[in-house]
Amino acid sequence: MQSAHVSEIFNSIQGEGPYVGVRQVFLRFQECQLHCAYCDTPDTRTFSDSCRIEKEAGTCDFIKVNNPLSRDYVQKAIRKLWTPSTKHIALTGGEPLIHVGFIRELETGYPLYLETNSGFPEKARELGNIIDIASCDIKLPEHEATDHYHELLEKELETISIFRETSETFVKIIILPETTIRSISPAVEGIASIDREIMLVLQPVTASGEKKGVPPAVITELMDFAGKKLKDVRVIPQTHKLVGLL
Ligand code: SF4
Repeated sequence: MQSAHVSEIFNSIQGEGPYVGVRQVFLRFQECQLHCAYCDTPDTRTFSDSCRIEKEAGTCDFIKVNNPLSRDYVQKAIRKLWTPSTKHIALTGGEPLIHVGFIRELETGYPLYLETNSGFPEKARELGNIIDIASCDIKLPEHEATDHYHELLEKELETISIFRETSETFVKIIILPETTIRSISPAVEGIASIDREIMLVLQPVTASGEKKGVPPAVITELMDFAGKKLKDVRVIPQTHKLVGLL
């Protein structure tokens, strides 16, 4: 039976992208192949012996459980945390596609919302058509996610093409104060070469501590640049942090 290293399972409200405000059960996996400078879940990039599971939906009261978790255990935890207004299981991380075998075997009957860094097209293909909504990131050079940027970009675009065939798919790009038209251009051109109708969400990095926010003039300039190539470009900041949600 499949098992997986999980970071946490909890019920909360989606705070990013076009589904902002939608209630979801979050299944956050451990491990990630990238190292983005802005990562807000750095603890999930590597394996740890334990994870935390919310006891009751929305309470932020957790129990600690040893990793790895079996498929049965995860399914039961998700069912327990499901509420009448909950709409999806958000598969997140870390990088959930690293756990593709586990995801394929999940049997809950609930819709699946995937948040991926898009770096594993071969694993995206293995998922077939089981993902309902795919939120696919594209990284920019200034994210410092990898030492092989162009190789990663090719993989990201391939992953987007794969999900585009079977799932509702949109692309999310985090913009930093130093992001320019030059740095975002290959990503925007790449999306347009797949399909101009694919929604692009520009997410300004959330300012905190020494991390500076993105000046409004940069946001609107990038939005107008992308708007020349793509039909649906939106700027949606992270909202869950505004109200102190997980
Ligand atoms: S892809 Fe996501 S989890 Fe991985 S390093 Fe980047 S921000 Fe963090």
